[in-house]
Amino acid sequence: MKTNEYKFFISDCKIAIEKIKSIDISYSIEDISLRNFKSYNNAKKQTSNLRQKNINHIDELLVLFDKKFIENGLETNWAIDYNSLIEDILKIFSEHKIKEVNIFESRFIKELGIIKKLKEEDFNINPQSLKCVIFEPKYAIAQTGSVFLDFESALEMELVMEAEFKIFILPFNNILKNIDDIELLSQLYSINKNKADYLSLTTIYTPKINKETNLELFIVDNGRTSLLELKEHRKALTCIDCDACKKVCPVYALIGEEPYNNVFTGPIANVVLPFLETADGCKHLSFNCVLCGNCDKVCPMNIPITDLIIANRNIFFENRNMDFSDRYKVKILKDHLVNRKKINKKAWMKEILLKFLIKRNISISRPFPKFAKETFSQIKSNK
Ligand code: SF4
Repeated sequence: MKTNEYKFFISDCKIAIEKIKSIDISYSIEDISLRNFKSYNNAKKQTSNLRQKNINHIDELLVLFDKKFIENGLETNWAIDYNSLIEDILKIFSEHKIKEVNIFESRFIKELGIIKKLKEEDFNINPQSLKCVIFEPKYAIAQTGSVFLDFESALEMELVMEAEFKIFILPFNNILKNIDDIELLSQLYSINKNKADYLSLTTIYTPKINKETNLELFIVDNGRTSLLELKEHRKALTCIDCDACKKVCPVYALIGEEPYNNVFTGPIANVVLPFLETADGCKHLSFNCVLCGNCDKVCPMNIPITDLIIANRNIFFENRNMDFSDRYKVKILKDHLVNRKKINKKAWMKEILLKFLIKRNISISRPFPKFAKETFSQIKSNK
């Protein structure tokens, strides 16, 4: 791969490996999942099906949410990307003469780079301010036009709930149909993210009940439609950001967050970043995975992460996002792997072919893998 992004990624990986040596990744939720569920696997299945169903009907849910939100006396703001979002926020600030803002930086708010932009525009970012807050609700609930809020501390809850002006921003995939859908979903999140039985500081916020007028809610796309368009990949939109997949990833254990140079890191980043950013800029991430499958086993949403990484590789091959030399090698390998006659060639012939295809760095002392003298099919037919 010849992209600059790939070269930077590799050099950042080397620095990270030198610096970090190894990240402590430990994932053990057996006790807590036994305490909470008769069958943790059934809970996973039930919740991931529910989330998938919501994603499959996202168009209907967004329309329903909008209708209910209007009935509650407010209008939803829709933003296709960072630029249109920031433009709208600046307009609102100018109309309401807001100069001071308190921003609670979730991963999505970081992804949108709001703090940086507001600092450039000379806004006072004050973490104690009650004038205006920017906050990401965890979910929007279509049937009631409400939002579900989850707070990290009592102070955060107070600052958000008491703020004179509230701006709520969430990605469009975090929409649920019913209030009842929240319980199991947040329990799985809490167990995997914090190893705690429940999220302790949450509330369901319905504007009408609170007679809230100084509230603006933004539902943002920021590249997620391109995942929604692909039937397989839309499963990635069910991610609840619990980090379980990172905690079991051997590559993440070696390189950590920094080489990703993004708010998305770990296995799910390998799947989604080529779509949220650009394929050429992020395709290398889909090739840094060793396909061990650990992430698939732990993901509470049953997202088939490794299958999606393989699907990405296929897309890059088919769409010619790969360099000519890489495409050529993949083609030759594919030709051999689907052809029994070629697979059954003598071991030394296959070893030579591999040596032609894979350029080894002189400094790598690991010997080249040896092929078995006979394939399983040859052993079987010689019996
Ligand atoms: S992909 Fe699965 S395990 Fe990884 S953060 Fe998302 S929900 Fe959690």
